[in-house]
Amino acid sequence: MFSRPRNVVLSALVLSLVAGYFVTGHFLYKAPIGLDPSAFLLGDWIQRLVPGAGHAIAGPFWALASLAAVAGVSVWLVRRAVAGRVDPERRSFLTRAGSGAGMALGSLAFGFAAGAARAFLGVGTGTKGWAPVGSQINDRDIPFTHPEWKDAWKGSRVQNYRRFGRTGWNVSDIVLGTGRIGGEDGEQIAKLAIERGVNYFDTSPDYSGAGSEMAMGKAIRSVPRDRLFIASKFCTPIGHLPPGTPVPKYIEAVEGSLSRLGTDYIDLCHIHSCDEVARLMDPNVHEAFDRLKQAGKVRFLGFSTHTPNLVEVVSTAIDSNRFDVMMIAYHHGIWPQVPELARRAREERDMGVVAMKTLKGAKHRGLLDFQRHADSYTQAALKWALANEHVSCAVISFFQLQHVDEYLAASGKRLTEQDLAILGEYDRQIAGTYCGPHCGACLSSCPEGLPIHDVLRHRMYFEDYGWEKEGIQRYAALAKNASVCATCPAPCAGACPVGIDIHERMTGAHDLLTLGDWASAVPLAAGGRATPG
Ligand code: SF4
Ligand code: SF4
Repeated sequence: MFSRPRNVVLSALVLSLVAGYFVTGHFLYKAPIGLDPSAFLLGDWIQRLVPGAGHAIAGPFWALASLAAVAGVSVWLVRRAVAGRVDPERRSFLTRAGSGAGMALGSLAFGFAAGAARAFLGVGTGTKGWAPVGSQINDRDIPFTHPEWKDAWKGSRVQNYRRFGRTGWNVSDIVLGTGRIGGEDGEQIAKLAIERGVNYFDTSPDYSGAGSEMAMGKAIRSVPRDRLFIASKFCTPIGHLPPGTPVPKYIEAVEGSLSRLGTDYIDLCHIHSCDEVARLMDPNVHEAFDRLKQAGKVRFLGFSTHTPNLVEVVSTAIDSNRFDVMMIAYHHGIWPQVPELARRAREERDMGVVAMKTLKGAKHRGLLDFQRHADSYTQAALKWALANEHVSCAVISFFQLQHVDEYLAASGKRLTEQDLAILGEYDRQIAGTYCGPHCGACLSSCPEGLPIHDVLRHRMYFEDYGWEKEGIQRYAALAKNASVCATCPAPCAGACPVGIDIHERMTGAHDLLTLGDWASAVPLAAGGRATPG
């Protein structure tokens, strides 16, 4: 049977379909969400081939390699069959033209079609694949700025510099958050903000897949180094470093930041996203900091946190007296323990306190009715955070030129009655949908032990921030997800003090963020990826 070329061609195409479906389809599916190289065969090794890549390249690599391998095998089989069947004069032509190029193209097309059917349409998987989520991403248009670029804001500059605890710095009250900055546009935005008086920026290796640090490196080239306070994170371009990471790896990560930023030292390095004390107090990261400080490469140590464990994490940090700075979730309506922790940090340890997540979910972007009435929700929210004397400054993500005018218009301004009215209106509009406090009051009501706050946060990334991939990726990495909510009698009803219908929000989150059960096999870089403050 395999001595006849036609049979061999048919067999090779069937092989392409099968391998395309099971192998290429598998990697095509994982490629967009598998940002951790170790999720893939030889992923870490392949990643080293492209040091600047912000995303794991092993997924696309293996998808292409599997197609190429099947095409190669198909061509070889067919050439062999043809060679044995035709006379020597015709063999050369037939072997090259007919069995070579034609077979290669055919098997590539069949393999890719089968893989795409599985990955993008979910054929044979019991899921809908990427298609429905992809269309939600493409069909949405989230406004990221106030609808009107008001003349009154144009040319705004920093009006207030505040003491930054024991760092001894006076920093601009508005901090340039660079989580979405990258490329030339990002560089221009950063340059303008610095020109207008911002002297503190917050970056991280994993913001824009190292693009933030690279853009900031270019933006600050002509600025005297001692005029800027630069903060980055113990992190890599593809994710956080987990507790227990060897000391040299932490040091290497910071040296990567120095090289991308084009500077000999950074002022502040945060242990990022401390959702547990073990992460905050990992002895290896503390030893790495001490060595870096001694070498003059980092001056101050900080941490960031915004989880139900915030109180425990911050209290531990204050008690340890190891930290010069803390960056915490702080916005209107935050639970009362948080301002008290800010006071303790300042009065007991003279720490610098940075308010982040100041926009309380940033849902104003999607509330078009609300925007018509608001002067600027963003300005009101910044003024609210800065009204606390124990808050040194507020970080906010700049990623459009308008942001420089809009955000800096709030610098040095007092919180007004009108601002409070805007914040109150915002709260009314988002009632029952925002799990901003991440207070954890509902967690004990769930017999499944679901991380309700995390599920709702990932939904917020997708829906409100426009960080769809981040939301999907983080949701896929949860040890438990909200699939169980569909059949649960919802003992969590009424457990949320801010009135969130947990069952409804959780089932909606699952629909929005789930690509299929096989997604749960994709791990995140340990500790997760950073989200901009
Ligand atoms: S509905 Fe979901 S979150 Fe609520 S108790 Fe049941 S499993 Fe837990
Ligand atoms: S859902 Fe409600 S109770 Fe649960 S963490 Fe969020 S705000 Fe707190």
